[in-house]
Amino acid sequence: MPGFELFGELERKEVTDVLNNGVLMRYGFDGMRNGHWKAKELEVELQNKFQVKHAQLVSSGTAAVSMSLAVAGIGAGDEVIIPCFTFVASFEAIMMLGAVPVLVDIDDTLTLDIEEVKKSITSRTKAIMPVHMCGSMANLQALKSICDAHKIALIEDACQAIGGTYQGKALGSYGDVGSFSFDFVKTITCGEGGAVITNNSQFAQYADHYSDHGHDHVGNDRGAEEHPNLGYNFRISELNAAVGLAQIRRLNDFISIQKKHYTIIREALSQIPEITFRTVPEGGEENYSFLNFFLPNLEITRKVSNAFKKEGVDGCFHYYDNNWHYIRKWEHLKNVKSLYPVSDEVKKGLEYLKTKSFEKSDYFIGRNLSCLIKLSWTEDQVKERASKMVEIIKAILKEV
Ligand SMILES: *Cc1c(COP(=O)(O)O)cnc(C)c1O
Repeated sequence: MPGFELFGELERKEVTDVLNNGVLMRYGFDGMRNGHWKAKELEVELQNKFQVKHAQLVSSGTAAVSMSLAVAGIGAGDEVIIPCFTFVASFEAIMMLGAVPVLVDIDDTLTLDIEEVKKSITSRTKAIMPVHMCGSMANLQALKSICDAHKIALIEDACQAIGGTYQGKALGSYGDVGSFSFDFVKTITCGEGGAVITNNSQFAQYADHYSDHGHDHVGNDRGAEEHPNLGYNFRISELNAAVGLAQIRRLNDFISIQKKHYTIIREALSQIPEITFRTVPEGGEENYSFLNFFLPNLEITRKVSNAFKKEGVDGCFHYYDNNWHYIRKWEHLKNVKSLYPVSDEVKKGLEYLKTKSFEKSDYFIGRNLSCLIKLSWTEDQVKERASKMVEIIKAILKEV
């Protein structure tokens, strides 16, 4: 990843179709569009590829995550359990609905720690939302039994793991609803966009309405349509959908390239006995967009991370010291810094963040490096990179 590395003729052709008829909107204008319905076509591709009954495109992954919660009826004051290692969008999406993100420790899967999830359930918990970070998944079977026992929703944020699988199912399709992002740096990109997938026809209908101002899409006069519920505008444009359509058809190719590159680097790093790799839950297969490994301690990891940067091994993230993905640096969330007043429920709901520590997660994130696997590398470049990484790590381990 990201998919933009291999933009080419296929993407250009789909976009040209749209520009040639000039209909940039996904609904209506039937007579002008010469049969081009890029958003609809992409939704069908997603349904087929991920073997789900429904897919609804939206304008971003954040909109998709938020909508996946909204269609499951999550709102004011409800608690949603998420990992403390995620992208900020996961808690933003929850807070958009007036709900409360309950951040929970992760384990060596780099996703939700099952025991910590169990301890965090309260009478207000309405959903568990695992985030399949850096291409691999949470223990979905364990989470599903917790959800079933408490009659709450299992909602997957699969924005970073498109194409990964668990027990033979596509990530995003195992829970009640799942979401993807197609922003510019994701495995499949369309500039800005996202999708929700589900087998629940009621949720799918809600998503169809909610993402377009509540329109029920009955008949062919938009002005005369009914609005069974309130909604917003989270529509994707035909231009974005056109790029996504070309990209999704290439997903299998992208994943096999990623797998090849990932395997070369992993095999090289495996020679170093001090290195361990992220645990992938049984029955799961990553999408190989990142290679995640652990070093012996925080100090060594910082040294390796700095040496990688200095020596030109780019795209390896030490999330412990990074603002985007880990609780440690989210002062704006901990202090609820909002442009507008936030409800008392949310303020109170987030008070725990002032005192809660995340030692378990610090232990894993502090020792983790997460290395982006690029599509555009040549095999020689990957091999060169792998030996450079091994050399740097060995030298630092010898020093300490
Ligand atoms: C990218 C991402 C999102 C949000 O996607 P956008 O399309 O950028 O809004 C949500 N969750 C995770 C885990 C992501 O990585």
